[in-house]
Amino acid sequence: MTFVIHVPAIPALDVKGTEAKFPVHRIYCIGRNYAEHAREMGHDPDREPPFFFQKPADALLPNGGDFPYPAKTSDLHFELELVVALGQGGVNIEAAKALDYIYGYAVGIDMTRRDLQAEAKKLGRPWEVGKAFEKSAPCSAIVPASLIGHPSKGAIWLTVNGKTRQRGDLSQLIWSIPESISHLSSFFTLAPGDLLFTGTPAGVGATQRGDRLKGGVDGVGEIEIRVV
Ligand code: MN
Repeated sequence: MTFVIHVPAIPALDVKGTEAKFPVHRIYCIGRNYAEHAREMGHDPDREPPFFFQKPADALLPNGGDFPYPAKTSDLHFELELVVALGQGGVNIEAAKALDYIYGYAVGIDMTRRDLQAEAKKLGRPWEVGKAFEKSAPCSAIVPASLIGHPSKGAIWLTVNGKTRQRGDLSQLIWSIPESISHLSSFFTLAPGDLLFTGTPAGVGATQRGDRLKGGVDGVGEIEIRVV
């Protein structure tokens, strides 16, 4: 097949233990999935049904590195998150079977123009300008579940210039990973290559040019970016 314009590259992530890459299809994100973070954003952390938004796959910043401070914001926030990478797709996936669909795990940062997101919330507008801009999804290499299993507890943390800003534990997820996949697959047809950013623990905050952000999930990996 030929195309009338240049064909863009397939967004992809490194995979620990192999030279082969993981091709990324869609990036889904879950909102408010840790109670302390829901509270800090002014919401009741009761188990309201999970809600989702997307970032475009080409918003990935594989392996972190230099992160350009984006336009049109003066309140750029970090949200360190465990990322689930799907190896199989499906619809209406049962939570009891959801782990079988997972290829592996990574560590990502859901970079957010909080001022633009807050304005969108206030006006009942979509979140794209706050969440889905270029390079808004720094993400580590994927670690296959065949190597580490399926983490359900373990520290999740982020430091800014060496100082701890976010700290939580995967056991604090309001909606577990299998439950989140099950809910998501009731709204969308999931596909191999889909990523799910699973939510961030408390401590989100603003970051400035020159900051070094480093975060990780114990047993999964780490990601580091420098805001430039
Ligand atoms: Mn997030």
